[in-house]
Amino acid sequence: YDDRDGWIWLDGELIPWREANVHVLTHALHYASSVFEGQRAYGGEVFKLSEHSARLKRSAELLGFEIPYSVEEIDSACRLVLEKNGLEDAYMRPLAWRGSEQMGVSAQNAKIHLAISAWYWGAYFGEDAIRKGLRLDISKWRRPAPYTAPTESKAAGLYMICTLARHEAQAKGFDDALMFDWRGQVAEATGANAFFIRDGKIYTPTPDCFLNGITRQTVIELARKRGIEVIEKAIWPEELESFEEFFLTGSAAEVTPVSEAGPWRFTVGEMSMQLRRDYLDLVNRRISNH
Ligand code: PMP
Repeated sequence: YDDRDGWIWLDGELIPWREANVHVLTHALHYASSVFEGQRAYGGEVFKLSEHSARLKRSAELLGFEIPYSVEEIDSACRLVLEKNGLEDAYMRPLAWRGSEQMGVSAQNAKIHLAISAWYWGAYFGEDAIRKGLRLDISKWRRPAPYTAPTESKAAGLYMICTLARHEAQAKGFDDALMFDWRGQVAEATGANAFFIRDGKIYTPTPDCFLNGITRQTVIELARKRGIEVIEKAIWPEELESFEEFFLTGSAAEVTPVSEAGPWRFTVGEMSMQLRRDYLDLVNRRISNH
């Protein structure tokens, strides 16, 4: 991704894409002291931009550092990046990290940096997955307890587990992996939240050790607006065979149906696809937020 034309916002300035580099002694590279966002622009406007910028700041606070820009400043910088790159439909990646001014586990004096990049990114799992549904592996890696790491933070360190899980799934021919948590309850996929449907009702795991995704919250609202009951609760693997439909939600993944997870099978059903259409209508401003 480093060798292309374009502009990246770095510490207050727009610089050419190829020049947006860091030093090898960057603290974040050694100790994962970085947090990021993933958001999509539709027709030149980022969906729920300020919520993403606020979550970025909160993620950093949970790692003990403060991003030296306000939510409004981050919002403006994101808009500038879209404009400068001439992007209408894009994925955006704000990233904040501790710099290379200090080495060692402790890095109180390392500078806090912020970079914002954007590029075109189509369907996260490809167009085929939307028709056929995703095939998920069941990962052996589990989401850690909230007393092991700040699990509410979109911290790069927590993605080590996700990359391990997704690489192992892909090596076996799956699209992605479903992860359980430290208790053995169903948690989420490697970059998206999980929803299940049974008898016209929606079930989703309580987000007590993984991100309560912005897309997750949006889809819950959309479902309730349609009069569909949404139940947040602990879901154990034993319950998976009773669900008819399964879909994932995320800023990148949007709403993507799942057809298979380990030994369990699901249909790419009408309710999942309806919520997918609702979500796309909302982000593309074909329906209002209220
Ligand atoms: N869980 C993980 C691990 C993720 O990476 C994401 C994507 N940010 C989500 C859930 C969904 O979050 P959101 O809907 O806010 O993008």
